[in-house]
Amino acid sequence: MSENSCHATPLPARSAAPDAFGRVVDYLRISITDRCNERCLYCMPEGYHGWAQRPDHLTADEILRLVRVAAGLGFRKFRLTGGEPLVRGDLLEIVRSMAAIPGVEAIGLSTNGTRLAALAKPLREAGIRSANISLDALDPDLYRRITGGEVATVLAGIRAAVGAGFERVKVNAVLLRGMNEGELWPLVLFAAEHGLPLRFIELMPVSRADVLTEANFLPINEVMELLRARERLIPQPDHRLGHGPAKYYRLEPAGALVGFIGAITNQHFCETCNRIRLTADGKIRPCLGNHGEVDLRTALRRHASEAELAALLRHAVAQKPQEHAFRGNYTPCRPMVAVGG
Ligand code: SAM
Repeated sequence: MSENSCHATPLPARSAAPDAFGRVVDYLRISITDRCNERCLYCMPEGYHGWAQRPDHLTADEILRLVRVAAGLGFRKFRLTGGEPLVRGDLLEIVRSMAAIPGVEAIGLSTNGTRLAALAKPLREAGIRSANISLDALDPDLYRRITGGEVATVLAGIRAAVGAGFERVKVNAVLLRGMNEGELWPLVLFAAEHGLPLRFIELMPVSRADVLTEANFLPINEVMELLRARERLIPQPDHRLGHGPAKYYRLEPAGALVGFIGAITNQHFCETCNRIRLTADGKIRPCLGNHGEVDLRTALRRHASEAELAALLRHAVAQKPQEHAFRGNYTPCRPMVAVGG
């Protein structure tokens, strides 16, 4: 297995569900574009122009065909991501058509929120039920430094999502030592004030090596200690919001519900992983933190049968490794923006 390049694995005769480690994989994250209107330091390497290979990117019809096949295999939960999914012009058509596919129970969205003010209502009407909105800092200068964007547009997007009646709106912040420690408490207060779950996410090595160093890594245990200095953290062991790996705590007296996603320091992180990812150029990533990919685009473009596509998806599930390889000397073969968060 090459450490520095993505590679497709050969197709075996059969595959099984649940996967080889007893995990039921029924959640497909679909990156509908690797284009983004922001430039997050930890996600998109400078000079990245993956989207220049536009003909490689799946059309709406191709995405919908795969969703139909996945739903037929028992996938029930879907998330549209990117890049930034809201920059794709046919997003609403994709959502509407997905929502009508039998078996599709939940469609969520991961977004930077900058375009939600205009799109939240039509997206909700089209069938999006929940949104995860990235917000690494409330301070406008720091937000701009991390993402290249304007925090006011995100705040307007969050308000619009709540106003549009999304069943769940969560706020996600990536932890960056030396950058947003000072924002943790303001983010908690923001979450409490708006009644929105907030998740703190450990930095994963999925972009530029200079950003993803030990020096920038802020483990969740340290964040919990910082918060404990002000508040009581009451574990919410039964709290599983949506389909994610976060461990939730209620902060008292502020009242915020805060989830911690310790992708690197939680040794049990992968035990309940229930997802695979589809990249914008038609590759299934069984694991975010491993290079293995299964090519579906080639099959789609030679008009493979539903049965062949289903076999490829089952194969991808069977290829899901027991755990990610982030704790080794992992070098990404594609940046996060090209995988889909
Ligand atoms: N543009 C959308 C957004 O901002 O949410 C969707 C795509 S983004 C890749 C999805 C999620 O991945 C975001 O919450 C983002 O913060 C997270 N992410 C990106 N790079 C990361 C990294 N190196 N470590 C941890 N999380 C990362």
